[in-house]
Amino acid sequence: MADTIFGRILRGEVPAHFLHQDELCVAFADIAPQAPFHVLVVPRKAVVNIGAATEVERDLLGHLQLVGAQLARAAGHDNFRMVTNSGAEAGQSVMHLHIHVLAGRAFKWPPG
Ligand code: AMP
Repeated sequence: MADTIFGRILRGEVPAHFLHQDELCVAFADIAPQAPFHVLVVPRKAVVNIGAATEVERDLLGHLQLVGAQLARAAGHDNFRMVTNSGAEAGQSVMHLHIHVLAGRAFKWPPG
C-alpha cells in the first residue's frame, strides 16, 4: 500500500492534534471540515479502505465506529453521521482507511 498523508501523521512526520489515540487508532479534526464537528478516525494499521478490509479487520472496524460515536457524544452530539468512502469514485481521496464523523448541522439524504 502506498504511503499517504495519514501514514505520515501516524508516524509523527506531519503534526496533528489527536483528539483520541489508543493502540488501534487515532482521531483528529478534518483539515477541511464539512460540518461544525468533523473528525476522522484512522486505524494505525495501513488498510486502503473498507473494500480492502477482511475478516481480520472485523474487530478493528467495530472499534473505529465506537470511538467515532464516543467522540461525537463527548462533544455533545447525539446526532451525527459516519461516512467511509471506499474508492475514488465514492469520494475517497486519501487511500488509508478512515471514518468521517460529522455533526453539528442537519444532513440530507441521499448524500451527493
Ligand atoms: P476522503 O476524501 O474520504 O478520503 O477523506 C479524506 C479527508 O482527509 C478529507 O476530508 C480531507 O479534508 C482530510 N485531510 C487531508 N489531509 C489532512 C490533514 N493533513 N489533516 C487532516 N485532515 C486531512
